[in-house]
Order: sequence, then C-alpha cells, then structure tokens
Amino acid sequence: MGRTLSNSFFEQAKEYIPGGVNSPVRACKSVGCDPPFVREAQGCYIYDEDGNFYIDYVCSWGPMILGHSHPHVVAMVEEALRLGTSFGAPTWREVELAKRITQLVPSIEKVRLVNSGTEATMSAIRLARGFTGRKKILKFDGCYHGHADSFLVKAGSGVATLGIPGSPGVPEEIVANTIAIPFNDLDALRQVLDKEAKDLAAVIVEPVPANMGVILPKEGYLETVRKWTEELDILLIFDEVITGFRLGLGGAQEYFGVIPDLTCLGKIIGGGLPVGAYGGKREIMDMIAPEGPVYQAGTLSGNPLATAAGLATLDILMRPGTYEALEEKASRLEEGLNEVAADRGISCTVQRIGSMMTTFFGKTGPVTNFEEALSSDTDQYGAFFRAMLDLNVWLAPSQFEAAFVSLAHDLEDIENTISAAYEALGELS
Ligand SMILES: *Cc1c(COP(=O)(O)O)cnc(C)c1O
Repeated sequence: MGRTLSNSFFEQAKEYIPGGVNSPVRACKSVGCDPPFVREAQGCYIYDEDGNFYIDYVCSWGPMILGHSHPHVVAMVEEALRLGTSFGAPTWREVELAKRITQLVPSIEKVRLVNSGTEATMSAIRLARGFTGRKKILKFDGCYHGHADSFLVKAGSGVATLGIPGSPGVPEEIVANTIAIPFNDLDALRQVLDKEAKDLAAVIVEPVPANMGVILPKEGYLETVRKWTEELDILLIFDEVITGFRLGLGGAQEYFGVIPDLTCLGKIIGGGLPVGAYGGKREIMDMIAPEGPVYQAGTLSGNPLATAAGLATLDILMRPGTYEALEEKASRLEEGLNEVAADRGISCTVQRIGSMMTTFFGKTGPVTNFEEALSSDTDQYGAFFRAMLDLNVWLAPSQFEAAFVSLAHDLEDIENTISAAYEALGELS
C-alpha cells in the first residue's frame, strides 16, 4: 500500500508548519514513520489521501467515542451551523450542556465552558489559587494537563514521547511553584504534604493517567489522596479530560466513588469540536468573574457548533447499554491482544480500564508509574505501530498514549484487529 500523496503533503507541511504538524505527536516521529494525511473518517474507519483505510484506535485522542461522522452529531451540528457560528452572547445550548454536565458528573454543581482541555486545567488552577490564596500546585510525573506553563514539569503525552524534561520558554519562577511526584506512591505524597501543605493550593491528577500509557490507580490510592487533601484544605482537581464520559457518564470520580473539588473536562464533551470545561462546588465556582474576582474569559467559549456536537454526543452516550457495549468490545480486544502476544512469545502487558488501553512492550507485570512506563520497549512499540499501520490498523503513534475503542467498532473490527496484531507481532518475534 502506498502513501505517496500523504508523503508529498508532509514534505510541503514541513515547509510551512513547525515539524509539519499542529500538535507534536501527530508527526509520528517516535515510531519512525511519516504520518498518513487524513481525507475523511466514517464510523471507526479513517481514509487517507491515497485511498487507504484504517481501523482507528486514536479516535482523535479520545473525543470520537461514537466513532466519526455520527449521523446524529452531523445533523445537530448542521442545524446549528445554519443559524450562525458564533455570537459572543449566551445561547440555550450552553445552558443545556452545563445542566447535563452538572447532573451527570458528581463533583460539578456549576461549570464554565472553554475551548480546550489546556484552558480548562489552566483556569482551574488559577481558580484554586484564587480560592485558597496559596501559590503551589502538586502534579504527578507523567500526567499531562495540557501545555500551560505550570504543567510542563515531568509531563506525559508528547512531552514524554519526545523525551524532553520540561520546555524552554517556561520561566523557572513559574515551575518553582509546581511540585511533581510519582503517581501511586502515598509515601511521596505524605512527605510533600507534611512539608508544603500551607502553600499548596491544589493537587491535580488524572484519576486514571492515560498520557504515559494507561496506568491504573492502586486500590485505595485515590481515596487516600482525597482524604489527605481534604484534611489540609487543599483542593483536589481531577483532570478528567480523557476519563470524563469515557469511563461512564460520571467519569472516573463516579467509577471510583472519589469526589474531587474541581473537575476538568474536554475531548468527549465537544464531540470532535474544540471544547473544554471546568466545574465543581458552587462556592468555589462563584469565585469566577463576573460573579467573583477570578478572571477567565473566551471569545469562542460555549460556541454553538461545539455545544451542538457535545450535546449530540451526550444524547447517544446517555442511551441505556452504551458503556456495557464499550466494555464488551474493549475487553475482547484486551483478551485477543493477550492471546496473540502469548502465541508469538512477545512479552508485553495490556493495561485496560473501560474502553481505553495501552499495550506496554517489554513488560511482564503491571506498569504503575511514569518511571516504569519509560522503561518499556519503545523500539518494539514503534515496529508494532508500523506493522499495524501497514495492516490497516491505526494505533496511537507513541507508547505513552491510549488506544480508544468507540461505539462504532463492531466485534468484527475487533477480531480483524486481533488478527492483524497476530501478523504484526510475527514480524517482531
Ligand atoms: C488532552 C488532554 C488535555 C489537554 O486538552 P487539549 O484540548 O489538548 O488542550 C488535558 N488533560 C488531559 C488529561 C488530556 O488528556
């Protein structure tokens, strides 16, 4: 299968766009190939400019939980489109989306819509600092909270993929207020809390980290993080930009029964259009302008097309049986990948929760934190990625990302993926 047109677009792209892409991991650098250029996507299939198709497990990095071009989403966006694309004034869709989010996500009593996950997390820590009058924040190694300055400390996702420790351009004074410790390590947390509690505004965490590959919280871990932060009046922020509406309608907080003070959302609630949101307890959210003094604004926030796509996506997710269906498909994929890896004698660990998973190469036991994730066999992942792409399966172009199963993947697509993996792993062994 050829990718002549894609390759020529990429050559041109590199002339005009840094690295040829508008988000680093798309360049596929760490897996050693050039990216296909996408022409179109329908259901769980992506079509590139050369006419190749792929079963898609990137799903736009999470948002496309219904699959691509879902007819209900297309219809709702078309309807909104004809009525105007942005007004800079309130609309009923914003109210409807906010109402549903507050009804479904346990910690959220009020919510503010923004345009990206990055904006959501960056606004949430401003709010936490404004509310507590404290400066420092604590994050976990390998968690990714978007690209705002404060978070580019031992960050996951593209930062991990490219192996850069932080980023030039981020002033030391800013990261001096960010403390990073390993995930799943209560001793490390206790030590920081004992020393820094009176300066800590917030602890921010992906309740199930997915930007160093999918890592599961140890039994009781999130509960203890909640208990200790509550005792010290430190706000707990769950970054559920990936897990929100992915692990269930109430996200990871409902799944684990651990309720943070603030929650960040994005990805799925925009149904493939640019969106983010942050919300939480009423008394905290009422600190935001114009109700309170903490400033945050946005020309395109609550955009009519984005809210239409988000509402349409939630319409479908709220139907009975949705998450059971996702669980069935994803658990079969996990099982199949384990079977073919065993058949081929490849050591790897498949870590899954709900419809998100990562296959860590070169690992035989659970991967519980960033350091362990970083020691996986990324060369082998790269070889697997390239072999799968040639077999029409599009995986995340990095070991440190998740594979997402959508409602549009049917069991036949899953079986075809498992067969492709059997072949691909044969080339590695
Ligand atoms: C994707 C992501 C973000 C950033 O969202 P953008 O819309 O890319 O700015 C933040 N947090 C987590 C957990 C994410 O996965």
